[in-house]
Amino acid sequence: MIFFPTIFPDELLYSVFARYHRNSGNEGRKQTMNELFANPSTCSSIWFPSQLEELTRQIPGQVYTSEELIQNHTLIPYFTPFIPHERATRLMELVKSKISSSANMILGRAALSVKPKQKLLYCSECVQEDRTKYGEAYWHRCHQLEGVYVCTEHGSFLIQSRISHQVQGNRYQFFTLENVLVDTDEKCSIIDYSCEKYYKYIAVQSLYLLNKQLPSVGLNKIHTYYVSKLRSEGYVCRASNRIKWDRLISAFRFHYGDRLLTELNGMVRERDSWLHKLLRKPRVSCHPLRHILLLGFLGETVESMMDGLAEEKTINYEPFGHGPWPCLNKAANHYRQPVIVSCKITRCSRSGNPVGTFTCDCGFIYSRTGPDKADTDRFKIGRIKAFGSVWRMRHAELSLQKLSLRRQAELLGCDPQTIINQQRRMI
Ligand SMILES: [Zn+2]
Ligand SMILES: [Zn+2]
Repeated sequence: MIFFPTIFPDELLYSVFARYHRNSGNEGRKQTMNELFANPSTCSSIWFPSQLEELTRQIPGQVYTSEELIQNHTLIPYFTPFIPHERATRLMELVKSKISSSANMILGRAALSVKPKQKLLYCSECVQEDRTKYGEAYWHRCHQLEGVYVCTEHGSFLIQSRISHQVQGNRYQFFTLENVLVDTDEKCSIIDYSCEKYYKYIAVQSLYLLNKQLPSVGLNKIHTYYVSKLRSEGYVCRASNRIKWDRLISAFRFHYGDRLLTELNGMVRERDSWLHKLLRKPRVSCHPLRHILLLGFLGETVESMMDGLAEEKTINYEPFGHGPWPCLNKAANHYRQPVIVSCKITRCSRSGNPVGTFTCDCGFIYSRTGPDKADTDRFKIGRIKAFGSVWRMRHAELSLQKLSLRRQAELLGCDPQTIINQQRRMI
């Protein structure tokens, strides 16, 4: 090999090979394969190339390491955090050395049942920008990930090319993006434009996985993280410690909408869906897109999950103990009864201490700075954030009776000044 094209940022290796093939003027792909890998019968899949060690030896000046190529130009970093460590290592080895790649088998990707994209995609604005910056357009790696239909750089919807990614073996052909752009392409037909914010979220998370090149996290750790999040959102039954599936599934479907879930092949049903697999004691790896969908539902991101996992303590960290927590509305007939199922935990910006906010169905909301040190702390109010309708009705009742301010305050569980303030508001 006399020359090798400069690899562009986030360029798919397949794209580099296609540009090499075009620039070389080679007629057949076998000759190109021979020059790239010193082996004419190398079979390279678009997603998971193989023999990258050999390739780095062939590139003049040996300017790239195989690790660099894998991390920056293959889809492997997208999968790594969500597969067991030893499998991630095997996958790396396979892509570096083996002649025929069976990476899909290691990943168990076929069994992951996420609808694979049929064609290579591109962003028309990236095309313009890349031509200006680099002299030509190229296939971006992040645009090919499943569930990614938006360019995070430009916010525009991606365009589907006619190039099928399933070309392998003898049918493996090299198409540069510039080759393809002479044709007319249609927009991705499956896009539901009303779900734009979810598509953007998925694209941003997917790109994050590619760029951050995170290590394998460990399925058990991720599982524990999810369950603790679900618990704090009230989706885990206190008594039995089981997930409240009915509630979770209807909330999940409501969050994304059935149409989007169907488009992403991620519809969840009452029994035995991918969500069940993801939340059961982990034995199988799930597709990264599934993890992204669950994180999005939980109001989290890959980044916030990694932060949470880094601080081991935050998992199962319950500074206010287990719920349910008592309602501390003295005006309610359920005063001091454990009726509040969820506690929102934030951090005090000054001290860094956890602050729990407890919201009752009666409208009463109180917060307390933690962590609780004794059982009796459960019945302490730091600050009342809202009194709610039950409290206000009782207050109105009491103010009609001829009671002293102090007595009213005592019956309502607040200080006399609050009674005065609330009376002013009523007038
Ligand atoms: Zn773009
Ligand atoms: Zn209440």
